Amino acid sequence: MKPVPRSLSEIRDLIKEGKITLPNLINSCLENIKSQKDLNAFISVFEKDAMQNAEIVQKKIIGGKAGKLAGLVISVKDVISVKDRLMTCGSKMLSNYTAPYNATAIERILKEDAIIIGKTNCDEFAMGSSNENSYFGAVRNPFDSKRVPGGSSGGSAVSVAAGMCTASLGSDTGGSVRQPASFCGITGLKVTYGRISRYGLTAFASSFDSIGILANDINDTAEILNCISGYDENDITSSKKPVRDYYKEIQKEINPKDIIIGYAKEAFETGIQDEIRETILLKLEELSKRGYRVKEISLPNTDYIIPVYYILTSAECSSNLSRYDGVRYGYRAELEATDGIEEMYTRTRSEGFGEEVKRRIMLGTYVLSSGYYEQYYKKAQKARQLIIKDFGNAFKKADYIITPTTPTTAFKISEKTDNPLEMYMSDILTVSANLAGLPAVSIPAGKDKNGLPVGLQITGKKFDEAGILRLAKYIL
Ligand code: GLN
Repeated sequence: MKPVPRSLSEIRDLIKEGKITLPNLINSCLENIKSQKDLNAFISVFEKDAMQNAEIVQKKIIGGKAGKLAGLVISVKDVISVKDRLMTCGSKMLSNYTAPYNATAIERILKEDAIIIGKTNCDEFAMGSSNENSYFGAVRNPFDSKRVPGGSSGGSAVSVAAGMCTASLGSDTGGSVRQPASFCGITGLKVTYGRISRYGLTAFASSFDSIGILANDINDTAEILNCISGYDENDITSSKKPVRDYYKEIQKEINPKDIIIGYAKEAFETGIQDEIRETILLKLEELSKRGYRVKEISLPNTDYIIPVYYILTSAECSSNLSRYDGVRYGYRAELEATDGIEEMYTRTRSEGFGEEVKRRIMLGTYVLSSGYYEQYYKKAQKARQLIIKDFGNAFKKADYIITPTTPTTAFKISEKTDNPLEMYMSDILTVSANLAGLPAVSIPAGKDKNGLPVGLQITGKKFDEAGILRLAKYIL
C-alpha cells in the first residue's frame, strides 16, 4: 500500500513544502484502490475527473484561494447522489441508475474544493451490519480480509482505512457509520437528526437516517461537518439551529473536572466480547484518574432497543422502497406479452431486491397492516418514547455517555449470514442514538488479541456535536 497522509493539515503542509502535489496524492489513492481491489470497497471510481480536479485545486492552493476542504480526497457511499454518476445503492434494482442532481452535502463539499474519488460499496439500500448484502459482492476488512468491514457503510470505512482516500461520507440509520468505523479502526460520526440535510440521500428509514462522516483525523471530521451541516430548504427536517464552528470549538482546552461522563452499565452486560469490555472500562478508569467525573447511569429499556428499531425501520423502509416498481426507477423484469401490470410489479421487485431488503419490506408491511398495526407499529412507537426518556434522564446526570461501539470486533465473512437475529444484535449499542436522534461518534480505542480494532462510542445531547468531538479529541 502506498503511504497516504492521514489528515488535511498534513496534506496542506506537504503541499506547501512542495513535497507532494494534489495530483500525486490522487495517484497514490488510485494505486491503493487498484492494488487492493480484492477488498471490493468501490462501486465506481472517478479516475479522470479526480485527476482533473486535483490539477485545478492544486493551483488554487498555491494561489492561496482554495476552499476549506482543498486537499481532502473524499469517497461517497453509493446511497448519496452525485450528479451524473451511477448511484446503485448496492442494489440490482438501481444498478444502472444515474443520479440527476447532487445531494446537498455533496454540493457543499464541492464548493469547498474537496475532490470526490468515487462511490463506495455498501449493503443494499444501507440495510446490513456486515456489508455482505451488496449486489456487487461483499466488502472485506483491511485488517483481515477473511473478516467483514462492518456495514452498511463498509466500503466507505475500508476506503479511508486502506489509504484509498482521506475521508468518506456515509449514512447512519442504526450505526452504519460508527460500526464500520469501529471495525476498521477509524473515526465515524453520526450527527443529531436534522443537523445535516438528507436531500439526495436515498431514504431507508426517514425518521432515523442521517449522513455521517468517516475519517482518520477528528479535526477533519469537524472541518467537514462545518461545511456540510446546517439548514437546507430542500429538506424540511433539517434544523435551523445555527451551525457552530466545530473545528474551532474542538481546539479549546478541556477541564476534566467540568465534565461528567456517564457509564451506562447495561451496555457492558450481555454479549460483549471480554477484550472490548476491558478496553473500554480501562479507558474509563484512566479518564477518572485524569480528573473526569465518571458516574454510573442507567438505560433501563435497553432490551427493547433492537425489536423497536427493526419494527420501525422496517415499517418505514417498506413505504420508502415502494417507489421501486419498475415504472419510475431502475430495473424492470423482462415480461411476456401476456403479462399484466401486477406481474410486472411482482417480478420486478422479486428480481430486483436482495434477500435482506425483501425480508424487511415483508416485515414492515406486516407490522403496518390493519390488525397488527396497534400491536406492533404503535407499540414500538411508544417504546421509542421510553428509550428517548431514558436518555433524557441519563443526560440529567451526565454530559456524555461512553460505551463500546460494538459488542464484538470484526467477525468472519458468512459467520452471521444464516442468523439474521444474531446479525441484528451487533447493532445493540449503536441504534439507540438513532432512535433518540442523538449525536454519537466512534473512535479507535485499542485492539483485541487478533489485532482487530476496538471502537469507543461517545453519545451526546442533541446538537452537541462540538462536545462529543472535543471529548473524542482529548481522550484519543
Ligand atoms: N445495521 C443496521 C441495519 O441493518 C443499521 C443500518 C444503517 O445504519 N444504515 O438496519
